[in-house]
Amino acid sequence: MSTFSRTDRTTLKRLPARGVYDRELVYQILDEGFICHVGFAAGGQPFVIPTSYARAEDRLFIHGSQASRTLRTLKTGIDVCVTVTLLDGLVLARSAFHHSMNYRSVVVFGRVSIIDDPEEKLRALRTFSEHVIPGRWNDVRGPNDQELQATIVLSLPLDEVSAKVRTGPPLDDEEDYESPVWAGLIPLRLTAGAPIADPRMKAGVELPRYASDYSRRGRTN
Ligand SMILES: Cc1cc2nc3c(=O)[nH]c(=O)nc-3n(C[C@H](O)[C@H](O)[C@H](O)COP(=O)(O)OP(=O)(O)OC[C@H]3O[C@@H](n4cnc5c(N)ncnc54)[C@H](O)[C@@H]3O)c2cc1C
Repeated sequence: MSTFSRTDRTTLKRLPARGVYDRELVYQILDEGFICHVGFAAGGQPFVIPTSYARAEDRLFIHGSQASRTLRTLKTGIDVCVTVTLLDGLVLARSAFHHSMNYRSVVVFGRVSIIDDPEEKLRALRTFSEHVIPGRWNDVRGPNDQELQATIVLSLPLDEVSAKVRTGPPLDDEEDYESPVWAGLIPLRLTAGAPIADPRMKAGVELPRYASDYSRRGRTN
């Protein structure tokens, strides 16, 4: 299906025109980001924990230590809400009230399943690595059995999903357009700085292209 079906939980009530249910667009947002916030309730206490993620087809993977309280709680099959936010710019309006931000964000509801099969787990970890730094996996030592055992990988189906997107210039009240104050956009994006070699690195190792040219797929406002 090319669009996500709306549910009670994923129907936007506020500024519904900014709602996006198109699968391709949702996937673009998820593929550009790699940090999510995982929300869940444990013992009546809500938690929202930041973590990394990767997407493979219609699933999100999150991973971490067997000791992680978050992952151990999620794998019991409780409801989870995962959000991803990309900030594209600040929107400077002529009135304080109409200032805004350009963004693309995704909210996913569901329940995770645990990936136990060692081969599937390894594939998921490779997907994870390639999602964050394409090309890195083939260069490094892969996880050994003990490291695989020590890692939990969870999979969240992308079934109940919404995106919300704001683009474009400020939307001011008509009478304010005559105001002499500057208005417009300050675009923002995640950029990589120059890589810094580990002081303990073996001499003569070349800087790989995926490190020197690292970037996330960006977009303009
Ligand atoms: C950018 C980023 C990427 C990360 N990627 C991963 C990942 O891929 N896998 C992974 O397992 N973890 C990752 N983490 C760490 C993650 O946020 C948790 O700290 C970790 O998963 C331990 O979870 P826990 O539930 O066992 O924490 P616990 O130690 O049980 O949490 C106890 C309390 O500590 C505090 N706490 C925990 N984590 C944080 C935090 N990040 N910031 C502030 N307070 C905190 C909260 O008050 C929480 O209630 C990432 C964090 C960041 C910021």
